[in-house]
Amino acid sequence: MTDRHAEAALLSYPLEAPEFGAGIEVASGVLWLRFPLPMALDHVNLYAFDEGDSWTLVDAGMRWPKGLEAWDALVEGPLQGKPISRLICTHHHPDHVGLAGRLQRAGAELLMTRVAWLTARMLVLDVEAEYPAETVAFYKRAGMAEKVLEKRLKERPFNFADMVDPMPLGYTRLSEGDTISFGGREWDVRLGSGHASDHATFWSKADDLVITGDQVLPGISPNIGVYPTEPEADPVSDWIASCERLSAFATDDVLVLPGHKRPFHGLPLRLRQLIDNHHGVLGRLLAHLETPSSAGETFTPIFKREIKGGEYGLALVEAFAHCQHLYFTDQANRELNAAGAYVYSKI
Ligand SMILES: [Zn+2]
Repeated sequence: MTDRHAEAALLSYPLEAPEFGAGIEVASGVLWLRFPLPMALDHVNLYAFDEGDSWTLVDAGMRWPKGLEAWDALVEGPLQGKPISRLICTHHHPDHVGLAGRLQRAGAELLMTRVAWLTARMLVLDVEAEYPAETVAFYKRAGMAEKVLEKRLKERPFNFADMVDPMPLGYTRLSEGDTISFGGREWDVRLGSGHASDHATFWSKADDLVITGDQVLPGISPNIGVYPTEPEADPVSDWIASCERLSAFATDDVLVLPGHKRPFHGLPLRLRQLIDNHHGVLGRLLAHLETPSSAGETFTPIFKREIKGGEYGLALVEAFAHCQHLYFTDQANRELNAAGAYVYSKI
């Protein structure tokens, strides 16, 4: 989602982005690589850490034809044909685990949090030709517009396996508080939630790099959504708590390596902005719920702009998450209407 803050002038971005298939050095032995994505957010960042005769790679892109071409170009170009000996995936989303399976089969050790690995592997194995009844009920509860739902039900559902390689059995677990070494550095592992459960971030002890994946992004606020996998979740609470907790470790001198957009300085400010964004959204949403509404009817107060075709799905799960948060924190009531949608009203 587009940021509501004009923070661009306050965060500093020391580097210009590399082309797809190219890489630039952001610190000694650390390459920033760009991998294309087939959506409005058209890229994901990968980071490669030089291990001498191999690389440790952070995040693995998404499996689609242009992505595979870009990957081949990265291997032949900046990665100099050296193998990936270790792959670290920050979280389970398809733009971060897409090529994990093939890299594992080529010999890489995969490191992830347990929740992230289990979720990714479960979703890859769950191939559906039609929308399952629980997903349809979920869409209705979120107040998905009738026309959108009708259209979706005629299409093949999005399947993780469409964009993520099959994942072999076995991985190495990352946990909160671990210290791990890669790229000649020692890193503290800190977990966050809200965008994805048990999302890993890495804080270098020595040289002021922090790898945030999508837990902290500049310029856009990470999508905070409720999904059919856990329809009664309150990821907004998880998100705000994670930002508050990570703020205790954040300093201005670190260079943040995010999953999308550009590396930046200004981590304490960015965490503050992300928290404030959601409080702002919740305030506008609560005022709007003087008029009882389903989540699908709250896009205007939440996003302050029109939501177009391709954005609808992410906008809906984000709106639902904020409505659910107001319900779980006793600020709004909810009732099922005849169409199966939760209608929220301010208490
Ligand atoms: Zn991402």
